[in-house]
Amino acid sequence: MLVDTHAHLQWTSFDKDREKVLIRAREAHVDCIVNVGFDIEGSIKGVKLAEQHKGLYAAVGIHPHNAVQLDQNVLNKLRELSENPKVVAIGEIGLDYYRNLSPREAQKKAFEAQLSLAEELELPVVIHDREAHRDILEMISRFKGKIKGIMHCFSGNKDMAEQCIRSGFLVSFAGNVTYPNAHNLHEIAEWIDLRKTLLETDSPWLPPKDMRGKRNEPSFLPLTAKKIASLKRIRLDDLAEDTTKNAEAIFKLK
Ligand SMILES: [Zn+2]
Ligand SMILES: [Zn+2]
Repeated sequence: MLVDTHAHLQWTSFDKDREKVLIRAREAHVDCIVNVGFDIEGSIKGVKLAEQHKGLYAAVGIHPHNAVQLDQNVLNKLRELSENPKVVAIGEIGLDYYRNLSPREAQKKAFEAQLSLAEELELPVVIHDREAHRDILEMISRFKGKIKGIMHCFSGNKDMAEQCIRSGFLVSFAGNVTYPNAHNLHEIAEWIDLRKTLLETDSPWLPPKDMRGKRNEPSFLPLTAKKIASLKRIRLDDLAEDTTKNAEAIFKLK
């Protein structure tokens, strides 16, 4: 069994065949999927999906792209959504200095407000970091010991991975680890402690190597898992077992 710790099945590109996508996921032994929020509507939709399907869970939060959305009303709505037992994290939250779709100051404010919310609710956070390594590390070090979480679709170097782990974070690998030129990610995946490792698809984006150009979906997760198992020179079953345990522990899945 594998856990896809980060997907967006509430996205419109799944509207036509969502049920089939879930069947294919199960056939590929991806029995558990965390649907991650990116705005308030997406968070609400993610929770609804999780309520309707066994093995589906939700994270609720405002993505840095949508940081300008975050006001007191939205924070209250996230708090209310988090009371649902299927909500297992706050996310995705963070900083994206690559696309800068929200001004950096708004991103930082929304990130900090949602880290505080996670602390208050005692939920882990799912962090999105694109070309914002330094500010991300600075922010999570302020919450060290108070929150746990996941660095999703990790893109930093070894030093950053070490600092994240020291701050109580796990490192999640997405389909880009299968790309032949992703030497930095290969090195980190090989080196990192299995107890700190998670797997994700980030569906519908970032399909693994043999699926490039297609819409990504959870049933493609085994391709990423196989690549990491081969980098670590371990059996796929062992990787699956350990990463599943890690996911169950951080999200408190039952
Ligand atoms: Zn992301
Ligand atoms: Zn995402």
